[in-house]
Amino acid sequence: MSEAPEKPFRLLPRVTPTNEHFWRGGREGELRFLRCGPCREYVHPPAPRCPACLSKDLAPAAVSGLGTVHTFTLNHQQWVPSADHPYAIAVVALDEQSDLRLMSNVVHCPADSVHIGMRVRVVFENHDDDVWFPLFEPVDGAAQ
Ligand SMILES: [Zn+2]
Repeated sequence: MSEAPEKPFRLLPRVTPTNEHFWRGGREGELRFLRCGPCREYVHPPAPRCPACLSKDLAPAAVSGLGTVHTFTLNHQQWVPSADHPYAIAVVALDEQSDLRLMSNVVHCPADSVHIGMRVRVVFENHDDDVWFPLFEPVDGAAQ
């Protein structure tokens, strides 16, 4: 029996040179997005051009990993046997840019404590193929 906590089943992404910075940033504890050199806009999902200024000068950059729950839902349906239920699926707005948002899970707290406006920070869940899922947990005190 493994001492590590059981990880929930997840469909793994196909890691490509275009999205590798995002799926493998967790190896260094960094949440990374493409960022535009000229106008400094973060671009997600990855695209060949900045949607704000159309520049092709995009490069991965790490953000703080801090954000706010923009909206969420609680899933009560047990789609897979390994996952705890209910669990929270949230859209998290990152501090760096209000429209830089990720849909993910809020973990390490009771699902019914998740609320709009909750302050969260990224944590990473490592899976096969060197994939690191960005999840979010309450910033200290936020679950109270
Ligand atoms: Zn730009």
